Amino acid sequence: ELLQADRQPEENAKQEEKIRPQSIDEYIGQRDLKEVLTIAIQAAKGRGESLDHLLLYGPPGLGKTTMSLILAEAMGVNCQITSAPSIERPRDIVGLLMKLQPGDLLFIDEIHRLSRVAEELLYPAMEDFRIDITLGKGQGARTQSLKLPRFTLVGATTKIGALTSPLRDRFGLIQRLRFYEIDELTQIILRSSELFRTEISQAGAEEIARRARGTPRIANRLLRRVRDYIQVKNHPRIEQAIAAEALSLFNVDPCGLDWTDRRMLTVMIERFNGGPVGLETMAASTGEDAQTIEEVYEPYLLQIGYLSRTPRGRIATPAAWKHLGYEPPTQQLP
Ligand code: ATP
Repeated sequence: ELLQADRQPEENAKQEEKIRPQSIDEYIGQRDLKEVLTIAIQAAKGRGESLDHLLLYGPPGLGKTTMSLILAEAMGVNCQITSAPSIERPRDIVGLLMKLQPGDLLFIDEIHRLSRVAEELLYPAMEDFRIDITLGKGQGARTQSLKLPRFTLVGATTKIGALTSPLRDRFGLIQRLRFYEIDELTQIILRSSELFRTEISQAGAEEIARRARGTPRIANRLLRRVRDYIQVKNHPRIEQAIAAEALSLFNVDPCGLDWTDRRMLTVMIERFNGGPVGLETMAASTGEDAQTIEEVYEPYLLQIGYLSRTPRGRIATPAAWKHLGYEPPTQQLP
């Protein structure tokens, strides 16, 4: 499953590190984001201050962690990386905050999943750079305020709507990451191939880019699969035809849809005449959980216009019917 976690996490993590852009100049695409952040970096540096707290949102794999590491590098500070589910208990978040050096970046992934206690500890930390901890229990309990160095919180989320407004309001900058264009993904693939020392043609890179769902992480993952394929088949270089052949073998179709996407759309079409279908039904029909469907699968299907959302559920659009080889109905319920 190309959208899911890696099967060889360690080996792949090493390769990921090798190809991760190290500076804003190496970071391809996301022009608006880069412009906003370049100004923020220059202004903060000019004043000798830390960066404002930053919230990055958008589908997974678009480069939120990468951007956070680049920001830390540009500011000459460390970046501590964590994710909300691993800082559930007060002591986790206190421990993390107490470790920060002046100016450091604290990157919290999936910030919409913070526990209430953790979130409430973060409010004064973000606003006044202090943390209130309770010592002792029962009647003898007392609160002590500890001072923290100034730091920058970078929150990342795939679901901005799930953030509470007090938390959202404490970010000075809120930026959305967009799906990448084919030419941007092509550049990313060409760059990664060079770092992997894999020969690739422009058309070969474009073929992979078209199937990468607008997402750099998927582009790099597909590239690795194709690289394995040409090696085993004894091809010296990734050309368009061989890339297409390899990716069909891995069940990635010319639009980048995988088994789960196609299954979801097929069930909607065959069983519900295109919809509307509720999220839970889609989850049950594919064996994926509703959250993964909503945060990982749906955004791209919505982006390419294969799915639309209505208050009564999801609808497979005529383009989706055609893509899967069905004749769309002349009239579909709205
Ligand atoms: P998640 O939200 O799931 O943590 P993410 O958005 O933080 O994902 P990253 O881990 O930053 O995604 O990016 C995934 C991979 O894609 C990185 O290893 C990096 O090599 C590549 N990548 C991301 N953005 C870019 C970019 N703009 N240019 C080149 N490569 C990129």
